[in-house]
Amino acid sequence: MSASLTFLGGAGGTVTGSKHLLESDTGRILLDCGLFQGLKPLRLRNWAAPPVDPKTLDAVVLSHAHIDHSGYLPRLCRDGFTGPVYCTASTLDLLRIMLPDAAHLQEEEADFANRHRTTKHDPALPLYTGADAERVLAQARPVEFGAAFTPARGIEARFTPSGHILGAGVVACRVGGRRLVFSGDLGRYGVPIMVDPDPVAEADVLLVESTYGNRVHPPDDPRERLTAAVQRAAAQKGWLLIPAFAVGRSQEILHDLRELETAGAIPSLPVYLDSPMAIQATVIYGTHREEHDAALTALQKGGTRPFAPQRLRLSRTVEDSKRLNDTAGPGIIVAGSGMATGGRILHHLKRLLPDPRTTVLFVGYQAAGTRGRLLKEGAREIKMLGTVVPVRAQIMVSDAYSAHADRDEILRWLRGFKRPPTMTYVVHGEPDAADALRDTIESRLGWRVAVAGDGQRVDL
Ligand SMILES: [Zn+2]
Repeated sequence: MSASLTFLGGAGGTVTGSKHLLESDTGRILLDCGLFQGLKPLRLRNWAAPPVDPKTLDAVVLSHAHIDHSGYLPRLCRDGFTGPVYCTASTLDLLRIMLPDAAHLQEEEADFANRHRTTKHDPALPLYTGADAERVLAQARPVEFGAAFTPARGIEARFTPSGHILGAGVVACRVGGRRLVFSGDLGRYGVPIMVDPDPVAEADVLLVESTYGNRVHPPDDPRERLTAAVQRAAAQKGWLLIPAFAVGRSQEILHDLRELETAGAIPSLPVYLDSPMAIQATVIYGTHREEHDAALTALQKGGTRPFAPQRLRLSRTVEDSKRLNDTAGPGIIVAGSGMATGGRILHHLKRLLPDPRTTVLFVGYQAAGTRGRLLKEGAREIKMLGTVVPVRAQIMVSDAYSAHADRDEILRWLRGFKRPPTMTYVVHGEPDAADALRDTIESRLGWRVAVAGDGQRVDL
């Protein structure tokens, strides 16, 4: 039997739009179905004709719920894909909050374009709607980690934990006696709320992500900076603002705040989780105990709620959020978006950045051009919500929080293979990162390796 793989996205120097087509004599499946995000030429690719006729696909297999891996699915279904979407149970739970949210953003964008006439299309239509997102959820088929399933005739697949976010899996496929392994996004080792990436023993062809293929994360404990930030807020009787992604990072921060309180390293301040999506994600993280690491399981058995600092408050509604305007510090607000590109954190930043008692702690990657990056680089004033806001707050940064394996952690995972794959393709990284990882794999492991080309088709 012959089989081939075509890299339709998340290859050739891009980190978004992850999509790989696996074809054999008996079936065709898509590994991941991600949305292109970032600069306009990339985003326009979401609007082009689908790279594969959706009606001809037997199934989609999703590595995890992040939108750059799942966010094209509603469009695929809208354009005629009616087959099953295989993913883990916790990925499905996360998709239930993330895809409707993504659809909502698309609808808002179209609405904005129509009101402000910023488009040549009349009327501007959303890439997809909430109804399309619901269609995906109806087509989803949850499978357990380790359990074999058959996404198409002649193709057998299974997930093993990749440690990246809740539900994230490495996908291993067997096609006509050949083994294809797709890393999805690899997580880090020793993160308190996640299991470590599971080693995989064998692959003929391997796809490995390279987001941080040219970087080693700083060795410092991320909690040191968090401790300093909380202590400053308490001393100044001011607010600590933590812009954080709703899924993964917010739970990690809540977990660490609770641990630091328990250890007596920080005072117990009110902690406002000001994000409906983060609140829902935290419930999902708490529910899927099968994916927690041993320490977390032990905590829960002892009756501790691992994501609940003593004075946790949930701000579900806009009114809850606005009420914080009249609440005196000290206190902590965790809200999205993680790079201060939108969301409720903007309103808090606008109000509190001019106050020198305020502390802002950035706990994740800040992309070029975002407000997060500008603040991190020391901007003295910043535009937001129609005004120029002076920055007198203390800006702090912790680069040690990351959901992606760095170069050394990727190598550690690769060393888990019992023999070198016949061929390894580097995917999901900017050109520098992908090239650097290819060179490292070649020089340190001596494997046959290439950076996957955009649109390239290879035999399995
Ligand atoms: Zn991811």
